[in-house]
Amino acid sequence: QWIYLDGSFVTKEEAKVSVYDHGFLYGDGIFEGIRIYGGNIFKCKEHLDRLYDSAKSIMLNIPLSFQEMQDALVETIRRNELRDGYIRLVVSRGPGDLGLDPRRSPKASVIIIVEQLSIYPEEAYINGLKTVSVSSRRNIPDAVNPKIKSLNYLNNILVKIQSNLAGVGEAIMLNSQGYVAEGSSDNIFIVKRGVVFTPPCYIGALEGITRAAIIEICERKGYTLKEEPFTLHDVYVADEVFFTGTAAEVIAVREVDGRTIGEGKAGPITTNLLQEFRSIVTVDGVK
Ligand code: PLP
Repeated sequence: QWIYLDGSFVTKEEAKVSVYDHGFLYGDGIFEGIRIYGGNIFKCKEHLDRLYDSAKSIMLNIPLSFQEMQDALVETIRRNELRDGYIRLVVSRGPGDLGLDPRRSPKASVIIIVEQLSIYPEEAYINGLKTVSVSSRRNIPDAVNPKIKSLNYLNNILVKIQSNLAGVGEAIMLNSQGYVAEGSSDNIFIVKRGVVFTPPCYIGALEGITRAAIIEICERKGYTLKEEPFTLHDVYVADEVFFTGTAAEVIAVREVDGRTIGEGKAGPITTNLLQEFRSIVTVDGVK
């Protein structure tokens, strides 16, 4: 396995960063998780747009142009001879001193790791996941702004710990007003009487690339899609609930906090959206 580290390709054992890297010391950096399907980097432009927007927002100067970054992704995949898998692209503030001041970290570090991916068994896409709501809240302001895909994932880790304790694979996070925001690493959708709902991102959700792809598919397939705030009550009484994310794709939920959702398995709209999603993944992106 070859890892891209600041312009060089190194082995997994050689791929080390400095203990003075502000990504390590302060979570000062950004990242993307991207899928490769049949040799195609799915929604490459959208992921890189989000990365460069996150970088601009936190005044992080990425040392590669957009095109150079895309070339680096393609080259890393080629070296690893991978046709299907997952790309983790990390840009950290880079090595500095022990103070917070980013001016002491003159050169950002770029890391690209590609790997095989297996997250949920195929059975889960048919039968759905059990999930719970958790007490951690999605905060909106400043650097924890969910629009910035920053390396500060402690909140999401707390959600993961709570979902581990509950024995479930993903959990539902609310915002501080009690509206449903998203999962630990997925966006959330519900379906009620044929209408598809997802929280607007200002509620406290990442602008997920998969979320956007599903919104687009809904429009194309003629499903009514509403970006509206909703509460846990709406989730409990929904006909269908599903999560979307780069790793999870479109995964149905069969139970939330002990309440069975719909028929207790993937509903018809969720199943249809998953099929449509899987039909575009090998074409919509960069070869
Ligand atoms: N929400 C959070 C907090 C995430 O970390 C992710 C994963 O990237 C998502 C949502 C889903 O976003 P995407 O579809 O771009 O992977």
